[in-house]
Amino acid sequence: MKAFSRLLPCLLVAAAFVGCAPKQDPNTIRMITEATFPPYEFREGTAVVGIDVDICQAIADKLGKKLAVEDVEFDSVLPSLIAGKAELAAAGITVNEDRKKTVDFSDPYVTTGIVIISAKDSPVKGKEDAQGKAIGVQNGTTSADYCVNELGQEPDRFDSPAAAFAALKAGKVSLVIADVDPAKNIIVQDGGDASAFAITSEPYFLTSEDYAIAIAKGQPELLATINEVIGELKASGRLDEIFAANKAKSDALATAE
Ligand code: GLN
Repeated sequence: MKAFSRLLPCLLVAAAFVGCAPKQDPNTIRMITEATFPPYEFREGTAVVGIDVDICQAIADKLGKKLAVEDVEFDSVLPSLIAGKAELAAAGITVNEDRKKTVDFSDPYVTTGIVIISAKDSPVKGKEDAQGKAIGVQNGTTSADYCVNELGQEPDRFDSPAAAFAALKAGKVSLVIADVDPAKNIIVQDGGDASAFAITSEPYFLTSEDYAIAIAKGQPELLATINEVIGELKASGRLDEIFAANKAKSDALATAE
């Protein structure tokens, strides 16, 4: 008991320290992402790299800060941003009205869309073919929203586009709906033209979507800086280089695996 009463103050001090969240380093800006989305974010060894990382690095450079990257599941990206765990969310995030209610978006840095991946010999071409079939999607994405809102059905939800594709290969779903660039990377990884699967949607894009950087609401200065950087990257041609380099790198990694 005596020993415990001597220990107690130490325990209380230790508990106080644990309770204290580490102070955010003012010299670092934190980006939150989800690294299963090549070429926007993917792993090269242990490092998270990709188009979004390069854009956020340019933002960090402009602010004179270091960039720290955190990788979480996609449906946690915006909640984590709102909870103050990062200053920037960049994860191939599509701008939409629902999300605009909770976060602010930068100017878009690309216009893209979602597509269908299915077996070449049983191609699902359009919305009508997809309806009523088992559809694999990444959880929390606009592809999941598309199933619910446009097709009127619940999709099978996975942690990544690649996991949804694995379910397609295993015959557990009939098609996958995903953003076009990770979809293309999946086909490259599966053998490219030799793959039994392909992007089969006609028209090619089911939607048109803009990607942008998200930040917590009410920070007009940070938003202006981010937009300035995106504008500069576009005007200088650097953004095109970032896209080309990361597509090449993620395709090379996909064929090396
Ligand atoms: N663009 C899609 C969305 O915002 C998917 C993004 C992702 O999976 N990283 O919902």
